[in-house]
Amino acid sequence: MELKIQNLSKTYSNGVQALNNISLTIPQGMFGLLGPNGAGKSTLMRTIATLQDADKGSISLDGINVLENKQAVRERLGYLPQDFGLYPRINAEVMLDHISQMKGVGKKSERKELVASLLQKVNLFQHRKKGLGTYSGGMRQRFGIAQALVGNPSLIIVDEPTAGLDPSERNRFYNLLSEIGENTIVILSTHIVEDVSTLCSQMAIICGGELMMEGKPHDGIASLEGKIYAKAIQKEELDSYKQDLQVISTKLVEGELNLRIESDTNPGNGFEPVPADLEDVYFSHISKKVDPITL
Ligand code: ADP
Repeated sequence: MELKIQNLSKTYSNGVQALNNISLTIPQGMFGLLGPNGAGKSTLMRTIATLQDADKGSISLDGINVLENKQAVRERLGYLPQDFGLYPRINAEVMLDHISQMKGVGKKSERKELVASLLQKVNLFQHRKKGLGTYSGGMRQRFGIAQALVGNPSLIIVDEPTAGLDPSERNRFYNLLSEIGENTIVILSTHIVEDVSTLCSQMAIICGGELMMEGKPHDGIASLEGKIYAKAIQKEELDSYKQDLQVISTKLVEGELNLRIESDTNPGNGFEPVPADLEDVYFSHISKKVDPITL
């Protein structure tokens, strides 16, 4: 199973080029699409989900032309969009039954079984009679996964699913996602590096509509090994460091700025070599297009 995107471009009518010649091959398993806000992730996700058209390029899912054969893709697709509306007074059980019916699960008894097993899977069975409007952010996202799983999709797209979840809700959600990634293609679009480092065996970074990196997270990290140096500085000193060095990130720790730079040679001057991590990979790539510090 494979999703193949070739030379995909999209410019909106206001002149914003959201996708610029993206080519990407996405295999079975959990794939992380990482990029800052405005990178083009949702545009790419909505195009794959057949909800909008590209100007140029092609997408194929196991040989199916996604852009031309939308119905065939929809039958194989589970989609959790960034913002999905829920009818607040309808309970989870009724809503999932309705979605199953729309997705073609005809028999009532079959639907009953399916709905119960999905609610068990996402740990909402005991809350099945509650109105969706009473759900917490984490419960809503887990419900979103349950509805995406109806119909046994071979392609599942989840767009920015962990934004707004607290740490324990996020952990629960990670556990759930990692369970469903086995026999399907799961594309997880996110601006949160931890989502990808926790879950994904393959990834890509996009920024300004362009593909910046594609591969395995650990290969990305290996490519930066020995090139990352860190130093704590005063905030006022940042600009002068930025002039001379390739600053890839800063973190405020107890009032001091922890500066990380990328360099082929040891810059000295109090910088210490540190192990590279996925955040360095992310910032190293996006800093080629945007200033990661003003993001
Ligand atoms: P991301 O999901 O990575 O935040 P988007 O795909 O939502 O990125 O947006 C990419 C760029 O396209 C942004 O500059 C955004 O403002 C612009 N954009 C997105 N949707 C539209 C639209 N319907 N009309 C015009 N511009 C849009």
